[in-house]
Amino acid sequence: MPKLLLVEDEVSIAEALSITLEAEGFQVAWVKDGADAVPTWERVRPDLVILDLMLPGVSGTEICRTLRNRSDVPIIMLTARDAEVDRVVGLELGADDYVTKPFSTRELVARVKAILRRAPLGAAFADESPVEAAGVRLDRARHEVRVDGDLVDLPPKEFELLAYLLEHAGRVLTRGQLIDEVWGSDYVGDTKTLDVHVRRLRTRVEEDPKDPRRIQTVRGVGYRFTDT
Ligand code: CA
Repeated sequence: MPKLLLVEDEVSIAEALSITLEAEGFQVAWVKDGADAVPTWERVRPDLVILDLMLPGVSGTEICRTLRNRSDVPIIMLTARDAEVDRVVGLELGADDYVTKPFSTRELVARVKAILRRAPLGAAFADESPVEAAGVRLDRARHEVRVDGDLVDLPPKEFELLAYLLEHAGRVLTRGQLIDEVWGSDYVGDTKTLDVHVRRLRTRVEEDPKDPRRIQTVRGVGYRFTDT
């Protein structure tokens, strides 16, 4: 039975949706407060998330960004009427689809089914499997990094930066891409913040941080984690 996480503070909408979705054979976990969304997602591991943008606690955009950094779980955003900006932001943040309020429950159910047909069940957590390149292994599920077999402790942003680099090993990643993926709108300051994190990361994953082999600088563009 496919599991859905519904994040919606309006009780009447949430109840109507839950009843319809359950009648359609889905198992629905419902949270009202934005702050409960990510913890519930971790516990329930839903096949799809229906996410309202305007929430108490943590905003829908923030939740979307967090989920996207950690998983490919399909996300359908619920946005206010004519909120063009919300819609664009939602899609830029990696939501798969959006539905504008007021919407028909039937339409939303159709979208849920369409997305689940494209994304096989369980695929949402496929990227939780460990990634490895050039002797560096990162395991998201255990929140563990090993360099040549030795455990290395990383602060959260460096962990996320390394994860993104490893998941795209061999590819050149632009500075903008890295900043968007790792920091999103939390990013403050100029692009030096990124360089500082790369420098710190190198002290932990390079044999000689002054002559980096794993995290390579691509001059004028960004960085690449070597895949050889
Ligand atoms: Ca709301």
